This record gives sequence, structure tokens and C-alpha cells, in this order.
Amino acid sequence: MASKLRFKVVDEAFKKRPVEVPTRSERPSEFFGKYVFNKQKMYQYLSPNAYHKMCEVIDEGAPFDITIADEVAEGMKRWAMDLGVTHYTHWFQPLTEGTAEKHDGFVEHDGKGGMVEQFEGKILVQQEPDASSFPNGGIRSTFEARGYSAWDPTSPVFVIGDTLMIPTIFIAYTGEALDYKVPLKKALYAVDRAATAVAQYFYPEVKKVVCNLGWEQEYFLVDESLYTARPDLVMTGRTLLGHDSAKNQQMDDHYFGSIPERVENFMRDIEIHALELGIPVKTRHNEVAPGQFELAPIFEEANLAVDHNMLMMAMMKRVARKHGFRCLLHEKPFKGINGSGKHCNWSLSTDTGVLLHAPGRTPLDTLRFVTFIVETLKAVYDHNGLLKASIMSATNAHRLGANEAPPAIISSFLGRTVSDLLDHVAASSEDESLSVSGKTKMRLDIPSIPEILIDNTDRNRTSPFAFTGNRFEFRAVGSEANCASAMLTLNTAVAEALTSFKQRVDAHIADGLALEKAILRVLREDINYVRPIRFDGNGYSDEWKEEAARRGLDCETSCPVVFDRYLDEASVRMFEGQHVMTRVELRARNEIKWETYTKKIQIESRVFGDLCMNHIIPVVTNYQSVLIDNVHKLKEIFPAEKADRISANNLRLIEQISEHETFIIEQVQKMIDERKRANRIADEREKAVAYHDHVAPLLETIRYHVDKLELVVDDELWPLPKYRELLFIR
Ligand code: ADP
Ligand code: MG
Repeated sequence: MASKLRFKVVDEAFKKRPVEVPTRSERPSEFFGKYVFNKQKMYQYLSPNAYHKMCEVIDEGAPFDITIADEVAEGMKRWAMDLGVTHYTHWFQPLTEGTAEKHDGFVEHDGKGGMVEQFEGKILVQQEPDASSFPNGGIRSTFEARGYSAWDPTSPVFVIGDTLMIPTIFIAYTGEALDYKVPLKKALYAVDRAATAVAQYFYPEVKKVVCNLGWEQEYFLVDESLYTARPDLVMTGRTLLGHDSAKNQQMDDHYFGSIPERVENFMRDIEIHALELGIPVKTRHNEVAPGQFELAPIFEEANLAVDHNMLMMAMMKRVARKHGFRCLLHEKPFKGINGSGKHCNWSLSTDTGVLLHAPGRTPLDTLRFVTFIVETLKAVYDHNGLLKASIMSATNAHRLGANEAPPAIISSFLGRTVSDLLDHVAASSEDESLSVSGKTKMRLDIPSIPEILIDNTDRNRTSPFAFTGNRFEFRAVGSEANCASAMLTLNTAVAEALTSFKQRVDAHIADGLALEKAILRVLREDINYVRPIRFDGNGYSDEWKEEAARRGLDCETSCPVVFDRYLDEASVRMFEGQHVMTRVELRARNEIKWETYTKKIQIESRVFGDLCMNHIIPVVTNYQSVLIDNVHKLKEIFPAEKADRISANNLRLIEQISEHETFIIEQVQKMIDERKRANRIADEREKAVAYHDHVAPLLETIRYHVDKLELVVDDELWPLPKYRELLFIR
């Protein structure tokens, strides 16, 4: 009987597992970056010439000089072999959720019958992995299946186990991007170019603007034995059924509570691995839901931060198993309690400081601050639907639009101080805006801004895009996502807004307006223009949904329809105008998005149908037979009237069970029919829409009845670990 298995696994899970406690005698500062070929290692293993050229590539974005490739490869190989490394791999981020790698040994024939360790520059720089099994959205036809992976020298190579990992970009033979990194790097270049030009209005010496990203990774831990007893978790990453636990997060006792010992060991272990790989992890804490936690590093340059997040997610899954856990990165593993996100803290900075930093003492500084805030808002307003598309997925859809952070409407929270500042600038009149730089005193009475703009009490947790001091926090990003998708879209949009800002300011200057006046004129115009995107109220409320629709913000919640925003003319113009992606690439990506959506719902639906018919219904029928048997037996030993009276409860249960069963069996069949109908649709978008409209809702309606059955069926018989068992780690 299945129940025996359940109790066995529950028992196993609750027995404290002996776990080795990770310890390091050295301090983090001593082993930070131990497995990274960073500048320090380059200095040691490369010639001065190669070292300096590599520094130029890393610090200034100079192109990689191919003539030093062999030497760099040789230095890397020597360093890696000193660490016992035998293999290398190009590590890339295809348009699936994870990363891809194919390992090759360093060994080559030496021509004398023996072997030699070899690693040449051309192998470091470029490879042609057999790419036919990665999603391409129709870009590559089967006869031209080649794709290139090419080294990204701005992200350092690192060592995991016996393998040298080389971060690479991945492109089609015909030049289109087949990964997240290519458009991300192009977007970062675009925002650098546009923001540098605008920053030079204020600080002429600025040469480069860097995008910073600090991600906060939320995740769940589940005991491994319980996980393996849940086919839905194993195959879809989330529970497709399961009634609420009587206690979940209502006591608010998990958030910032003390961390269970087993979990703390896991965290310590993962932090050691992360630090060794140069990921500057800093923060760990419990999250709102039981079994939910967060991990965050100090922010880094966005391209590197994305690589580090991808690496971290893979590592979390691996290390969790060592500690008898499974790490769930799915955005919504459990119904009825909080899901997981990946807040992306975003800012731009020059070599001299953060451009979104609280204004300093000079009026020019304040103007710089207002400029970058307002143009970011303009980017978010102009492309609010597209930004939602950039974070939308079958899995994140469970958070967006459901009654949980964040709503499926993109808006921005600024807080009182900054809101007042913008309103003040917008309301000021033209002649108030006298020169702020030179002899004429500035009469524009900008209120003074305290050094720390927003304290923790002035935080709005319901806003998907909140200003939090010296950065914006894009909170709608999903925990499982490659945050490159959100980052490349946001940065391209900001690049577009800043480019337009500069064009308009320059036009006013050409008309004879002084620089500060020209800037203020454009800012006033833009502050009024972006009003609809500003919202400081409760993003979860129904009133906001109505208000947002009135303001013309994108309120679509259907995942496959939200993807349409990528192909809006305004989006294509933006991506092509900033040289980030072409229409062909955008189309191909959407094909992949729709296809992925369909596959996910299809798998969920199949797994769920199987759970219903092969796990739940048989057990429930058995239990019902026990009840029926009991009713008969009561009749045998008691007079009819008494037997009826004392069987009343069981009779009611028998009837209830039959009703739920009938509904489940009918609806599972309906779900199969709907799948068949959807599968016949050739167009990927239409198919995804059919899955969204006709298959996905059935998962919910059927689940309701299964969860009701969980409440009435004998606990001894229930075949799957329950929420109360899955959620509380001991
Ligand atoms: P929270 O209170 O939201 O948890 P934290 O202070 O823990 O915020 O920071 C969250 C992340 O934001 C960290 O990765 C941090 O390094 C990052 N961060 C801080 N300042 C900036 C900035 N100017 N730009 C980008 N990220 C930043
Ligand atoms: Mg945060």
C-alpha cells in the first residue's frame, strides 16, 4: 500500500540526518576567488604584456587581441592544472533556463605515441558545439545546425571540480544570438553609450557608465526523501496538489527567524563554494514562507552578476543534495503561501559614483539625479508591457497577477522625498530655472535631500519597480529566471530614453537655450509625461487594477499573450534602434517562449492526470469501500433504525467522495481532450494560448476536489507527503 511508503519517507525525513558541518580555517577574504582566473592569477601566470591587455579588456571594454590568445590559454591551463584540472568546457546560457556545457580533456596525441596536455588559444576563443538540440526558434534549419560559442573575456574563467569553465556567448552560424548573453552585452553597451553621453552634461570627464546588478535569490528547501515521493515536484518543480497546512505563514514567525541547523550547514557550505568562485555572497536569511530562504551577494557589474547568478543556481541545486535537501527554484512550489522571486537591484554608475545616488550639494548634482530618475521612469513607462513580458513565464505567472507580489502591472514606487522633488521640478516655471553652473545663482528652489533618501519604513513591498535609495529594485523577476532577460530589456529601454533625452536637450541648445535650461525644459515635459507609471499605493488592491487600466498601463495577465509585447512595433524599434536584437531574433525568441510555455503546461497536465487517476482515485476508492463495508456491518449487528442513525456520517462521506471522484474522473478526461485539441494547432502562439485558456484552468478546478479529498480520506492511506510534512524542516 502506498501509505506505507509515505510514512517511511516521512520518518526518514524527520530523522535528523548526520551532515558534515562545513568548516574552513581560512577567512573568506583569504579564499575568495580561489578558483577564478582573476587579475591576481593573470599577473602570476601571464607575461606583463598579456596581463595589461587583459586588464584593458576587463576594465575598459577594449576588444580582445587575438595575438595573445595562445599565451592566455597556456597561462590558464597551467593555473588550472596546478589545481588538478583535466578538462575544459565552454559554458553558455542557451534559451532554456539553465546553462550548457560539454567537457573535453586537455589531452592530445603528442605524435610520438604518447599524450600531452594541450589547450590552444583557438579552442579558448571559439568552439562549434553541436547545437542542434538547443532551442533556436526556427533560426537554424536542420541542414545548418552549427552554432558558435565564443569566449567572453569580460567574465573570468573558473574551475569547478576537474573542469575549467569558460563563459561564452552562443550564436548561430548566420550570426543571430541563441543565448541571453549576446543581447545582454549589447544592451549594456547601448546603455553605456547613451548614459555616458548624458552624464557628460554634468561631469565632462566621464568616459564609461557601468550597469550594476545586485540579485536577491529566493528559494525553498525540501527534504530529499519527501521530494522524491512527490512525482509532481520531481517532474514539474511544484506541487500540483496538496491542501494547505493548518499552520503555514500566518504567524509571520519564519521571516528573519532563526535558521534551522541543517539549513545553516547548507548555507555555510554554499557560501564557501560561492566565495571560492569569486561570488561576493553577503546576506542569508529566512523568507516569509516556511522552508523558504534568501541568499544575496554584493552587487556587481551586470554581465558578471548574471553569470554568477546562473552559476549560483546550479550550485545551490548540487550542494542541497549533499545535505539531504532538494533546492526548489520554481516561482511557486506551494499553493497558498508565498512564491519566490529574484529582486534585481539595478543602477548605473560612472567611474566616479552611482548616477542614481542621492543628490549631493550642488544643484548640478541634483539635476543629474532627477535626469536619471526621470529617464528611467520614461523607459519603464514607454515599455511597461514589454518589461512585464521580459519577466513572464509559465512558472512566474503564478506570482504575477495572483494575489501576491508583484501584480501583473508594472508601475514604479518613488517614495515621498523623490516624488516631491519631481513634482517640484515639474511645477517650477521657466525663469526660475536660471543657470545652475555659473555666475547666476540658481533660484530653482530644490528641496534639500537627506543623505539617506528612504529608510525602511518608507518601503513599498507591493511595487514591482521601486526606488530604494540609490537604485531601482525590479521585484517582478522570477526566482528561476535568467535575470539577463529583465536586465537586457530594462537597459535597452533606458538607453533609448536617454538617447531621446539627449537629442531633445541638444535641439534646445541649438536653439540658443543654456544647457541647464534645456535640461530642465525636457525634464519638466518628461515628468508630466511619466505620471501614469508612478504609483505609491497598494499594488495588490483591486482599485489599483482599475486605476491602472484607466491610466493605460498594460494589464494583460495571460502569459502567452503578454509575450506579444516583444513584437510590438515600439519594441522592435527599440531593440533594433539600440542594436540589441533584430526582428528576426525577437520572432525566434517568441517562438521559443510559446513553445516552452506549451510544454510546461503539457507536462504539468500529464503528471497531474496521472497523479489523479493512478494515485489518488484508487486510494480514495479503497477508503470508500472501507466505509461502505462499515455501513453494511453496522446493519448486521444493529437494528435498522439504530444502524441508519450511526451510519449517517459515513453515508455522507461515501456520497461526498463519490461526488469528488466523479468530478475528477470526468474533468481529467476533459483535460486530455483539451490537450489533444490544442496539440493539433500548428501555430505556436495559438497553441500556447489554447493551453493557457483551456488546459491550465482545469489543473486548478480539479485540484480543488483532490485537496478536498485529502481532508476526508484516512491519513494513513494518503499516498503523497502532505504540505505540513513538506514545509517544516527539522
Ligand atoms: P534588501 O533590503 O532589499 O534585502 P539589501 O540591502 O540586502 O536590500 O541589498 C540588496 C541588493 O542590492 C544587494 O545585492 C546589494 O549589493 C544591492 N545593491 C545595493 N546598492 C546597489 C546599487 N547602487 N546598485 C545595484 N545594486 C545595489
Ligand atoms: Mg530587496
